[in-house]
Amino acid sequence: MISRFKGSLLGVAAGDALGVPREGAVSLGEVRDISSRYTDDTAMTIGLAESLVECRGLDEEHLAMRFMCNYEREPWRGYGGGPPRIFHLMRNGAAWEEELDKRLYPGGSFGNGSAMRVAPVGLFYYCAPVEELREAVRLSSCITHSHPLAVEGAALEAYAVALAVNGEEKFLEKLEKFVGEDIFRSKIDKMKELLKSRPGKQEVVRELGHGIEAFNSVPTAIFSFLYCSSFEEALIYAVSLGGDADTIGAMCGAVAGAWWGEESIPSRWKDNLENRGYIEDLAGRLYQLVSRK
Ligand SMILES: [Mg+2]
Repeated sequence: MISRFKGSLLGVAAGDALGVPREGAVSLGEVRDISSRYTDDTAMTIGLAESLVECRGLDEEHLAMRFMCNYEREPWRGYGGGPPRIFHLMRNGAAWEEELDKRLYPGGSFGNGSAMRVAPVGLFYYCAPVEELREAVRLSSCITHSHPLAVEGAALEAYAVALAVNGEEKFLEKLEKFVGEDIFRSKIDKMKELLKSRPGKQEVVRELGHGIEAFNSVPTAIFSFLYCSSFEEALIYAVSLGGDADTIGAMCGAVAGAWWGEESIPSRWKDNLENRGYIEDLAGRLYQLVSRK
């Protein structure tokens, strides 16, 4: 079990660092080696894991402050457009609980920024009732992404991580039962169709997307995991789809690492992973907390 926890968080960092050179790529090319640095996806995953460990559960206010402080310490991590502006508003006195993304985007952001960091919630709540997981995801998301489609994307990703930690054989069936929003439901239907054939990458991108919207990337990341038969293959595949490659890689890595465990991560990746020891330690502490519950 601890190997699955470590695999998931290291998987985020590996997928992120593998995808960096392919971020925004239109062509469908492969990379086989990771960059020396990870980006905002991993930085925010670390923040979420730190907050869960320190608070022994999800504390929205603590988490909002941790996100802000981690951003201020490392603003060069390649953050997307929204979160830095939200942290800036918070630093200037705006209340974190006001769903500040609504000031930037009408109706709130439906980007994948809350799904990319959500793996620790899936781990922490992997054997909790589904409603508890959903609520924790919602709280973690709304700090920067309050649109229902962002929340649903993050919930789907967290639940996929939880299912993977459990080694759930009826993975796709369970995911189907869980999903609440139509747009995600239709993506899961497409995913099932694609899994029956051997689709070209172009077709996968056309059907599932590879953009920064939660619904155009979370299903793509989960599909990459289901379509491939090893951690390494899944990550190389996910990243080769281009678009928001670091985030799709990170989200695929969270699930693939939880499923295949830490040992499945190629050592040429693990050995070059920035802050590997710290990330593993966080995963270990998360596991200790959960196993004592
Ligand atoms: Mg990134």
